Amino acid sequence: MVESHSEFKSAESGRFFLPGPTEVHPDVLAAQLRPMIGHRGAEIESLMARLQEGLRLLFRTERAVFVSTSSATGLMEAGVRNGVRGGLLALVNGAFSERFARIAEASAIPVERLETPGDRPHDPADVVERLRSGRFDTVSVVHSETSTGMLNPVRELAEAVREFDDVLLLVDSVSGLGGAPLLTDEWGLDFALTGSQKALALPPGLAFGVASERMAARAAAAPGKGLYFDLTQHARKLERLQTPSTPALSLMYALEVQLDRIRREGLEARWDRHRRMAERTWAWVDGLREERGLELSVFAPVGYRSPTVTCVALPETHSGTDVRDRMRARGYVLATGYGAMKEGAIRIGHMGEHDLAALERLLGTLEEVLVE
Ligand SMILES: *Cc1c(COP(=O)(O)O)cnc(C)c1O
Repeated sequence: MVESHSEFKSAESGRFFLPGPTEVHPDVLAAQLRPMIGHRGAEIESLMARLQEGLRLLFRTERAVFVSTSSATGLMEAGVRNGVRGGLLALVNGAFSERFARIAEASAIPVERLETPGDRPHDPADVVERLRSGRFDTVSVVHSETSTGMLNPVRELAEAVREFDDVLLLVDSVSGLGGAPLLTDEWGLDFALTGSQKALALPPGLAFGVASERMAARAAAAPGKGLYFDLTQHARKLERLQTPSTPALSLMYALEVQLDRIRREGLEARWDRHRRMAERTWAWVDGLREERGLELSVFAPVGYRSPTVTCVALPETHSGTDVRDRMRARGYVLATGYGAMKEGAIRIGHMGEHDLAALERLLGTLEEVLVE
């Protein structure tokens, strides 16, 4: 068993700043040691009922929340295969939004990309213009683009999409939900999904999603949606507080404990904690540039920065892998830039369990590494 929480905190925590998976609280890890229960019957039903209550609060929804034993990509695929009827417009400005388009291609579903550079958010007016072609019945977007630190304006994009009859919006909020405000029902999102291992600070292996009534109707009529990610089956089983196949019970135990911790902190307080960590990171970048003459910058533009992950563009004198490795030697884990930005940037996942004090220690060490 783990030692007392405070010992654990001082010895081990506050050092793992990957933008997923993220640090998991020891009480949440320990919950996975509970014995198995049957996945049909009263025990799973009461567990699932408790999970549903917490998940609904997280998603800000009145609807049932799917619990999928898969990584988040599984529910991205579910969204595409259950939701798209004849044409997907994939809003792409990073690696994860590109994944929606690839899923459609791999499923033989017609798709076109509306691409903007990684440091530019999607503009609702561009989306309206493309939708006027009439070729699309579904739009996909990533809320917090973990590859760039961009926060796309999902609420405004949802408003734009709703100007059209019967066009659905699929929203990947994998590194957003739990750290950045996302109001599923109020914003009128047709399918919102997330994974366990980012801002929710759980081990990887579960994904969660909510479908609107329009989305549920599409799913019921969708041909060729496969079996494992058939959302109609999920919905049917969820009515009886069960899942179509054996769920990852141990992860559900962990989820129960984490939902309780999130409820005690309060979702809004949690959003606020993330916003403060992000703002501190941006101010630190600006300070290093203005006071120490290091040409660092936050990659995402002001007003469109994710509260959970910051991509810091490095000057040519520094390389992403080198900075990562030297931080690793000092006991800190962070990520290089993503894809083509691997050497030109680093990414800090200030999400999940972290707080300002831990972030401050990370930034202090990172500063030493950068000015060395
Ligand atoms: C991590 C991530 C994914 C993929 O999640 P998996 O759990 O690895 O399938 C998708 N979208 C975003 C924005 C992510 O950050």
